[in-house]
Amino acid sequence: MGIFSRKPAYCTICNKQVIHKNKAKREWDVKSPLCSDCYLNKMQESYDASIIKKCINCGVKSKVTDLWEPRLQWDMVGLLCKKCFDEKELDFSKEKNFCGVCGTKLGFIRYNPKNNWKIKGQLCKNCWDAQKAQIDRK
Ligand SMILES: [Zn+2]
Ligand SMILES: [Zn+2]
Ligand SMILES: [Zn+2]
Repeated sequence: MGIFSRKPAYCTICNKQVIHKNKAKREWDVKSPLCSDCYLNKMQESYDASIIKKCINCGVKSKVTDLWEPRLQWDMVGLLCKKCFDEKELDFSKEKNFCGVCGTKLGFIRYNPKNNWKIKGQLCKNCWDAQKAQIDRK
């Protein structure tokens, strides 16, 4: 009965019974054993953490884990370094009360320019409509 008397092992992450024990790496900060799924996930995670990407604003290279995702309303794709993120946030809070085109003070209703309009800040309805009409005509 040798096989059955062996204590079953459980994955320390998902608690699934582990048939093939995977040893966690020390830098992962988790206990062994791991099931194959969790092991692979961890491998992927630590690989992701070592990827170097550029800040889309200033081009500085940094680990992905040290870069920031732009806020949704900034309408940006990619990652920002901490410095650019902070600057952007400041810019945004400064600009958000005025239309980026005509300078009218904005109320509750404001419009985000589309990325390819190259306009900073938000727009009043008039300017947004005007821009949109211009672009559509092209
Ligand atoms: Zn697992
Ligand atoms: Zn940057
Ligand atoms: Zn305006």
